[in-house]
Amino acid sequence: MRQKIIAGNWKMNLDRNGAAELAAAIVAGVADDEVLVVLCPPSIYMEAVVEETMGSPVVVGAQNTFYEEEGAFTGELSPQMFADIGCQFAILGHSERRQIMGETDQIINLKVHAAIEAGLRPLVCIGETLEERESGSTEAVIRRQFSESLAGLDEEAFAHIVIAYEPVWAIGTGKVATPNQAESVHSDLRKMIENCYNSRLAEQVSILYGGSVNSENAAALLAQPNIDGALVGGASLKAGNFLAIVRSC
Ligand code: PEP
Repeated sequence: MRQKIIAGNWKMNLDRNGAAELAAAIVAGVADDEVLVVLCPPSIYMEAVVEETMGSPVVVGAQNTFYEEEGAFTGELSPQMFADIGCQFAILGHSERRQIMGETDQIINLKVHAAIEAGLRPLVCIGETLEERESGSTEAVIRRQFSESLAGLDEEAFAHIVIAYEPVWAIGTGKVATPNQAESVHSDLRKMIENCYNSRLAEQVSILYGGSVNSENAAALLAQPNIDGALVGGASLKAGNFLAIVRSC
């Protein structure tokens, strides 16, 4: 059975105490390990969150990493550094990094390889803009991002990947994809894995949906056969809302 995952992307929010308190409240509310809960705090507060989650079924992820292990890369943090402090996942290719920081599929691909090398599980975001959806190019965009950002992975490496389908028009907008819209892209993604690798791997990879998920719309999305969890932004900043999404998984 595929792993169910609910990940919270806290983005550039909270302060040290707020991050520790939110992590503690989520740890207290996660009853079992049926759903893997991943908290992605701002990097500077990661150690505080790692401390709060230690010994619990909740794990920690980075919101981004660099693709080199060490050296003269001012301001960057390597995947090895994140792994060193107890981080297990790394969100890579989030649309905010693609759009604001200019990250390309090629850069994301370097980061994916580096993260796996460091022992992190990449949570790779893929998704079309509103313009791309309206012009009918959703499938082509998803296919391009899939093949370029995940290029060059053998089957063993790909087994570490988690994919998040995040339509850009749904992120932080309150405009959630319908369960059918999301399911259609998720099932295309699973077919792409099957075509590039095999059906065993395709059945194994968790594909999350992200984009304005909240406690009201989560259950319908998560009931879809190819939606294995959610990457949650805004609604992950309040323990009650986030835990309600975890419970609906
Ligand atoms: C995100 O940042 O990945 C996200 C899905 O944000 P939101 O839930 O706020 O749309």
